[in-house]
Amino acid sequence: MSEIYDLVVIGGGPAGIMSAGIAGSHGARVLLLEKNKDLGKKILITGKGRCNITQAEFDLRKLVETYGKTGKFLFSSFHRFGPREIMDFFENRGVELKTERGGRVFPVSDNARDVVSALKKFLKENKVEIMYGACVSGFEHEDGEIKAVKLGSKKIKTKNLLIATGGLSYPVTGCTGDGFTWAKDLGHSVTEPAPALVPLKIKEPWTKKLQGLTLKNVGLVAKQGKNKITDRQGDMLFTHFGITGPIVLDMSKEVIGADKKGKIELFLNLKPALGREQLDARIQRDFKKYSNKVFKNALGDLLAKKMIPIIIEQSGIDPEKKVNSITKAERLKFLELIQNIKMTVTGNTGYIQAIVTSGGVSLKEIDPKTMRSKIIPNLYFAGEVLDIDGPTGGYNLHVAWSTGFSVGSQFNK
Ligand SMILES: Cc1cc2nc3c(=O)[nH]c(=O)nc-3n(C[C@H](O)[C@H](O)[C@H](O)COP(=O)(O)OP(=O)(O)OC[C@H]3O[C@@H](n4cnc5c(N)ncnc54)[C@H](O)[C@@H]3O)c2cc1C
Repeated sequence: MSEIYDLVVIGGGPAGIMSAGIAGSHGARVLLLEKNKDLGKKILITGKGRCNITQAEFDLRKLVETYGKTGKFLFSSFHRFGPREIMDFFENRGVELKTERGGRVFPVSDNARDVVSALKKFLKENKVEIMYGACVSGFEHEDGEIKAVKLGSKKIKTKNLLIATGGLSYPVTGCTGDGFTWAKDLGHSVTEPAPALVPLKIKEPWTKKLQGLTLKNVGLVAKQGKNKITDRQGDMLFTHFGITGPIVLDMSKEVIGADKKGKIELFLNLKPALGREQLDARIQRDFKKYSNKVFKNALGDLLAKKMIPIIIEQSGIDPEKKVNSITKAERLKFLELIQNIKMTVTGNTGYIQAIVTSGGVSLKEIDPKTMRSKIIPNLYFAGEVLDIDGPTGGYNLHVAWSTGFSVGSQFNK
C-alpha cells in the first residue's frame, strides 16, 4: 500500500467524519486525526444529548436564507446533500428519525449515541484509518501545496488536507481554534471569531430569583436606546447568571454585535399573542373572577407562579390590595409591565457555553462547490471552522454534514 494518503482530515467532528467516510466510500485512502481519545465528544452533547441532526426545511432557497449573508455560499453543498439526503443517510444506517416542532429532526431514540455509533460504523465500512490523541504540530509545503502533516517528529504524507477542527465553542470538547491559527499561517484570512448562540448575562437581580423557570411562547425585543436591534418569539429560560433558551441564543449574535456600541436592553412580553386591548380584556376578566381576592392571589391564571411576586414588586401595586379596589391606572400599568419587562444585558457567558463560533475562515477564499482553498489547491476547510453559523434548530450540524460531504465527493473519480 502507498505511504501517501489521498486525504488527511484533521478533526473528528461531524464535518471531518462525513468527509472522511464519503472520500473512503469512493476508494480514497483516508486518515482521520482527532485530538480526543474517541469520536463524538461534541455530538453526544448536541440537542441536550438528543442531537438535532438537521432542519426539515426542504425548500433550499428558504433554507439558505436562514444563514443570512453566508447562505449563498451554502447553496451548492445543500443542493448536493440537503436535509432529505442527511435524513436518508442516517435512516439508511438504522437511525430512525422524527421531526419535532420547528422542523427539528432528532433520532426517535432521543439518544445522540445512536448518531455517533452510526458514524463510527460508516467510517469502518469505508476503511477510514483513525488516529486518536493526534497533536498536529505543523505542515510541510512544497511548490505551493501541502505535502505532509507533522505530528511531533512524525510526518504523514498526503495528497490532500482537510481542516475540520471546528471553532472555539465548548473548548471542553476539543475545539480550541487551532484551525483558525493554521488557516492564517497558510495565508487565509480569518473573520474575527466571536461566541454565538450564547446565553446572556443580565444585570437585574430579580432574574436570579427565577432561576430554572422556562417561559413558553414569549416575545423578546432587544433595543439600544430607541432603536430596535432584533426580536424573537418562542421559549426562554432563566439561569443563575441571566437568560438562555432558543430565543435568547438566536438573538445573541446580534446583541453581542451591537453591545460594543452601547447598552442593550431587552423587553420581555409575557403575552405576545395578545394585543393591548385583548390583554386588557383578559386582565379585566380575571380581575372580575377574583374581585374579592387580594392582588397577589388573583394572578395565577395569567402568570407563572414564580413570576407573580416579581411582577407585583415592579408594578408598585400593594400585593394585599383587594382586586376590586385596583384603579384603572394601576391596571394599565400592570398591563404595560406584562408586555414590557425590562432586562439589561451586561455580557455573555463566552465560548465556554457558546453553541457555535461566528467568524472563521473567509468564504471569499473557498470554492463553494468543493470547499477547496483558492490559495492552496490541495487544502480544504469544512464545518464550523468556516465563517458560517446558523440559528438553533439543526442548522449548524447541517452545515457540517453538507460541507463535509462536498469535500468527500471530490474523491469520486
Ligand atoms: C452544547 C452544544 C449543543 C449543540 N447542539 C446542536 C444541535 O442540536 N444541532 C445543531 O445543528 N448544532 C448543534 N451544535 C453545534 C454543532 O455541534 C457544531 O456546529 C458542529 O459540531 C460543528 O461541526 P464540526 O465538525 O465543524 O466541528 P466540531 O464538532 O467542533 O468538531 C471538531 C473536532 O476537531 C477536533 N480538533 C480540534 N482541534 C484539533 C486538533 N488540533 N487536532 C486534532 N483534532 C482537533 C475536536 O476535538 C473535534 O472533535 C451544538 C453545539 C454545542 C456546543
